Amino acid sequence: MKVVKFGGSSLADGPHFEKIIKIIMADSERQVVVTSAPGKRFANDDKVTDLLIEYANRVLQQQDVQSIQQQIWTRYQQIGTYFEVTNTKLNQLKQILIELPTKTYKNNSYLLAAFKAHGEILNAMLLTMVLQKLNINAHFASSGELGLVVSAAPQDAQILPVSYQNLTNYQLPKGRLIVPGFYGLTKQGQIATFSRGGSDITGAVLANGFHARVYENFTDVDAIYAANPAIVSNPRPIAKMTYRELRELSYAGFSVFHDEAILPAIAGQIPINVRNTNKPELAGTMIVPAKNFHADNVITGVATSDHFAALYLHRYLLNREVGFTLKLLHIFYKYHISYEHMPSGIDDLTVIFDKRQFTKGVREKMCQDIRLQLHPDSLEWIDDYAIIMVVGEGMRNKIGVMEKIIAPLAAQNIGVHMINQGASRISIMLGTKKKDAPAAVRQIYHNFFIAGD
Ligand code: ASP
Repeated sequence: MKVVKFGGSSLADGPHFEKIIKIIMADSERQVVVTSAPGKRFANDDKVTDLLIEYANRVLQQQDVQSIQQQIWTRYQQIGTYFEVTNTKLNQLKQILIELPTKTYKNNSYLLAAFKAHGEILNAMLLTMVLQKLNINAHFASSGELGLVVSAAPQDAQILPVSYQNLTNYQLPKGRLIVPGFYGLTKQGQIATFSRGGSDITGAVLANGFHARVYENFTDVDAIYAANPAIVSNPRPIAKMTYRELRELSYAGFSVFHDEAILPAIAGQIPINVRNTNKPELAGTMIVPAKNFHADNVITGVATSDHFAALYLHRYLLNREVGFTLKLLHIFYKYHISYEHMPSGIDDLTVIFDKRQFTKGVREKMCQDIRLQLHPDSLEWIDDYAIIMVVGEGMRNKIGVMEKIIAPLAAQNIGVHMINQGASRISIMLGTKKKDAPAAVRQIYHNFFIAGD
């Protein structure tokens, strides 16, 4: 069997529902269908999830909610009436939407999570109604019915292992099972959502739990590309890649597939197929285990991301000082800061952070603590930092890759602050100034994919 997940833009309106129903019915293996909330229909449109967040905030601030309820409701109603689902049926959904503020929630964060999750819940219920209207055998199953148990982090939940046991014990009904993505229930029974874009995670968890042959993830792009099309014009689509290649590239900005969703697929060794709802005839990108994978190219992709900052510390004889790093990590721990990388030399150390976790105050206090406790000869905070990730299973046994990455950058006068090659040997990370990163990506892409080997 297959688990199929449709993203928000694939479920944004009636005509898209029509497309996805054709896709579901074209293959009898497509037994389990995971929905997102309706996404954008055009560039400036709202995602229903964002409207639900607005709805929750208005409730919390005790403001009038009628107009926002109506705005959300219209999105579902238009899809329902497109398929001539009766008003009596549709009103069941409206009732759920309207009654959301009257339910009890453990705290405001759980209230927000429950509102958000209803984007997918109502959409899965609606899809079930539409399929039934078309005389297709379909059943709705909530996360609760399937036993998807998650950690008690209302907006950023993690799936708990017991969920897989529950899925194994779940008897799949005949026909199609329609499941809302994006959330699970905590042990106390409260709704908690995954992080944004997290319906991908639900799909991967179900694919693992139901031992699917493949997890099909339908979205609005033809494939995953070797570089971001906003940076490189007409980048080549990737036909096949490994899980770890995707993880490394997602980390540095490839956003087609939620990076946390790769883990359940890896655990179950389920191939993931990213495909386009609007062009279902295309094969898309297959994401597979590394064993039996043959790399056709030296690199598979190059990505960049600029939400990083670096802390540079210099101190003579750092390499001989026992406990320096331990003290440094202790300071990060005190401020609840995680770090991404820590390349070091004999007299210096660079720590790279995801800078979204800092407020200015925290950053200054942390640097002050480092000065007082570690007495570095110099400390520099580099806010203008981007990382570039060059990824490819094909790099592993190839000599001269580094030169091929660096030479075109040098030729363009692009400075590289840091180079880090992981033990897996399938990725090389570079640190550059933010302004240089897009040009660096273009140079590297060009040198590997256009200039030839
Ligand atoms: N609807 C949620 C979001 O917009 C989850 C998802 O679409 O995957 O983040």
